Amino acid sequence: MVSKKQIILITGGAGFIGSHFCDRLTKEGFKVICMDNLITGNMDNIRHLLKNPWFEFIKHNVTKYIKLVGRIDYVLHFASPASPVDYLNFPIQTLKVGSLGTHNTLGLAKVKKAKFMLASTSEVYGDPLIHPQPENYWGNVNSVGVRGCYDEAKRFAEAITMAYHRVHKIDTRIVRIFNTYGTRMRLNDGRVVPNFIYQSLKNLPLTVYGKGNQTRCFCFISDLVEGLFRLMLSDIHEPLNLGSPNEFTIKELAYLTINLTNTKSKIVYKPLPQDDPKQRQPNISKAKKLLHWHPQVKLREGLDATIQWFKNQGI
Ligand code: UDP
Repeated sequence: MVSKKQIILITGGAGFIGSHFCDRLTKEGFKVICMDNLITGNMDNIRHLLKNPWFEFIKHNVTKYIKLVGRIDYVLHFASPASPVDYLNFPIQTLKVGSLGTHNTLGLAKVKKAKFMLASTSEVYGDPLIHPQPENYWGNVNSVGVRGCYDEAKRFAEAITMAYHRVHKIDTRIVRIFNTYGTRMRLNDGRVVPNFIYQSLKNLPLTVYGKGNQTRCFCFISDLVEGLFRLMLSDIHEPLNLGSPNEFTIKELAYLTINLTNTKSKIVYKPLPQDDPKQRQPNISKAKKLLHWHPQVKLREGLDATIQWFKNQGI
């Protein structure tokens, strides 16, 4: 019998966001083909899905030609190193997955007549001069700085996605994902939430970079996945911000983590990394209006759940 299930290919499906999205997509009744080369993804994130007959894992580097037999209804391109530490370690892979990987996945969407979604990032705004950042802000990016490999790869990825939409009429979507946190983040991922939780649970000093006055907004993974799913089903072709609009300084996040973990840890100040954005906050009016979406989980609740998960991992 031919399956009536819609078939989705998701690249980066073994990563933090990708694996949570795989969970949702399988629950919603899709057949999911998860592709990952596991340089920053992890099989532990998807192990529970491997016994599901509607879930398939393929280890493949999407910067190489993607050969898939049969129908594909959606191609979701989520593969990329995404933490500053990871893309500093893998700058060339980051550039290649954003450029060649996006080209290959778009080519696949074209031949399969599939819908396409690109996971882009708030990093396309660089160190923003407009605050909060609406989608029509063009950004302030240092192309040759240490973050350039990620920022410019994603900017290229957005440009080629729009070109395929305009020229080949591919049904595309672009999501600009702001800081997201939750279960399955890697301990050594280098991002601020896992760093602070790990340091707190180990009673180590919390490393605040710079004076800690830089700001970020933290969206819990379940909220993000809800937004991703709504966008996937929509026909919005212009880029769309998804993230929490609640802004915190990094120092506030450090104190909140100390408070929630009851740690004896103190704060130590370390140099601010090059080109670290001073402020970041999404303008989510468009997502509110078009997707009727806004984040529900408060930072305190989401952090609590994440801390619990880290504890369950034996940290
Ligand atoms: N940061 C920090 N201490 C850490 C890790 C990160 O103070 O141990 C800061 C970092 O300088 C940045 C913010 O936290 O200003 C968020 O960093 P993250 O790596 O999570 O992602 P970014 O938003 O910079 O991409």
